Amino acid sequence: MSRRVLVLYTGGTVGMVASGGTYVPGADFGPRLARHLTERRDGLPQFDVIELDQLIDSANLTPANWATMARMLIDNWDRYDGFVVLHGTDTMAYTAAALSYMLQGCNKPVILTGSQIPLQRSRTDALDNVITSLALAATPEIQEVCLYFSGKLLRGTRARKLKTSDLDAFDSPNAPALGRCGITLDLRHDLLLPSGQPDFQVPTFNPESVAVLTLYPGIPAALVEAALALPGLKGLIIHTYGAGNAPDADEALVEALARGIKRGIAVLNISQCIRGRVAQKAYASGAALERIGVIAGGDLTPEAAFAKLHFLLATGHSGASLSRALQTPLRGDASEPLACRPTPC
Ligand code: ASP
Repeated sequence: MSRRVLVLYTGGTVGMVASGGTYVPGADFGPRLARHLTERRDGLPQFDVIELDQLIDSANLTPANWATMARMLIDNWDRYDGFVVLHGTDTMAYTAAALSYMLQGCNKPVILTGSQIPLQRSRTDALDNVITSLALAATPEIQEVCLYFSGKLLRGTRARKLKTSDLDAFDSPNAPALGRCGITLDLRHDLLLPSGQPDFQVPTFNPESVAVLTLYPGIPAALVEAALALPGLKGLIIHTYGAGNAPDADEALVEALARGIKRGIAVLNISQCIRGRVAQKAYASGAALERIGVIAGGDLTPEAAFAKLHFLLATGHSGASLSRALQTPLRGDASEPLACRPTPC
C-alpha cells in the first residue's frame, strides 16, 4: 500500500510570490505544487498539503511558531506515515532543532525543506527539494527530524544554513550527512536514530527567557551586564572565540557573568567557529569561564543550542538539572565529550 505523507507549508521562499518588487509568502501552495507535478507523479507517495493560517517569512518566526508547527504535526501523527515541513531557509535550522527536541521518541520521518528560488521561477530548486523530501518522508527507516536540501539529508539538530545564495545552502559541519540523494537515495543506516515511543512535549515557550550575545574584540562589560539584566532572562548563550575563550583580562566582564550566574541565569558557551567543540579548560581565557560556572556547550550548533536551552527551560529544568541536560546529547545533537583535554602541543 502506498505510503501517505502530510506536507505542512509554513511560508518561506519556496512558496513566495512577487509583490511590489519583493517576495512575500504566497498562499495555496498545494494546488500550485500539483500543477508542477502533473507529469512527475511516478514514484511519489500520496500526499496532502496543509498550511499555516498566517504564512511567514521565517525571519519573522518566534518560538511560539515552533509549538504551533509541532502541534499541527502531532494532531495528524496517526493519519500519516511521514511529514514534510516546507519552511523558509533563514531559520529552518532553528525549527529543525526545536521540532527534534519536542518530538521526543519520534517514530516517523519528519523532513524540513524549502528552496533558495521560489517554485514559480523557472530556475527553481523547490521541485527537487520538495520531491526528494516527499520520497524521504515515505522512507520508514528514517525516524527522526531531518533537513533535506540540495542532495543532502542532515540531522535536524546538526543542520546549519551556511550559504546565502548557493543552492546547496545547508550543511552539518560537526556531523556527517545522514544521506546523499543523487540518482539513488543513499542513507547512512549506521547513523540514523533508532525508532522510539512517541513522548512528545510541546511546552509554552517564553521568548524572553533566552538571549544570545556574540563576543567581539573590545566588548564592554556593560553590554554583558545589560544582556544579563533583560527582564525574564533565564539563559544567556555567549558565542565565544575558538575553543570557548573570552576576554578574561577584563575582570569587570568576567564578574558580570559571575554575578548573573549567581542570580540563577544559565550561561552557555558556544564557539564562534563553524567546526569543532568548546573545551573551556584549554586556555586560561576559557578556564576563567569554567571557574565561574559557565556551561560548556560542546559541539552544539548555535541553532541547536538556542532551541535546546529554550526547550529545557520551558519544560521546567533549572540549576544543576539544566546544566546536566544541556551537556547530555539529545536527539543526536552533540558528540560525547572528549576524554582528553585538547591543549596545543
Ligand atoms: N526570508 C526567507 C525565509 O526564511 C528566505 C528563504 O526562505 O530562503 O522565509
